[in-house]
Amino acid sequence: MTRVAIALGSNLGDRLGHLQEAVKQLRNNPLLEVVAVSAVYETEPVGGPDQDEFFNAVAIVNTQVSPEELLDAMQEIENAQGRTREIHWGPRTLDVDILAMGSLVMNSERLELPHPRAHERGFVLIPWAQVDPSFELPLHGRVADLAVRVRDSGIERIFEADVFDERNQDR
Ligand code: AMP
Repeated sequence: MTRVAIALGSNLGDRLGHLQEAVKQLRNNPLLEVVAVSAVYETEPVGGPDQDEFFNAVAIVNTQVSPEELLDAMQEIENAQGRTREIHWGPRTLDVDILAMGSLVMNSERLELPHPRAHERGFVLIPWAQVDPSFELPLHGRVADLAVRVRDSGIERIFEADVFDERNQDR
């Protein structure tokens, strides 16, 4: 089994609903075992055009699938929610990024692991440290150590992780 960290983000439409639906789809995938999901953070957009604040969360998953198969599954989840991507770095209904797969370091045409910006993004590291602080991010170190060094302004914990409990999923 490989331990995988997945970042979820939405800044268009029903932001919480998009994250909840993404977690539901992760849980419904028989090849993935969701072991933890963080709280939801409202975060200021980093880069790109002027756009609304994001909701971000991180899920921890155990799996035996290959990196490419995992990316396919994540892109299916994005596409199922009608992700719109007319503007690069612009607003999106749902963004699903693979932050890291265990200690794997790779860079192919489709996939770079660990995610090239994971180690420097507060909206990734703060929720990640909440659910898996001892994860060793390849090339960069422990997630908890990286999270304390990152800028946390503009990152507000807005919903507790129980919004992802199965009984709270059908709103
Ligand atoms: P974005 O618009 O930022 O979600 O980027 C999506 C593109 O990044 C996809 O075409 C993926 O093939 C590529 N990509 C490279 N590395 C990763 C990663 N670690 N997680 C998700 N997508 C990735």
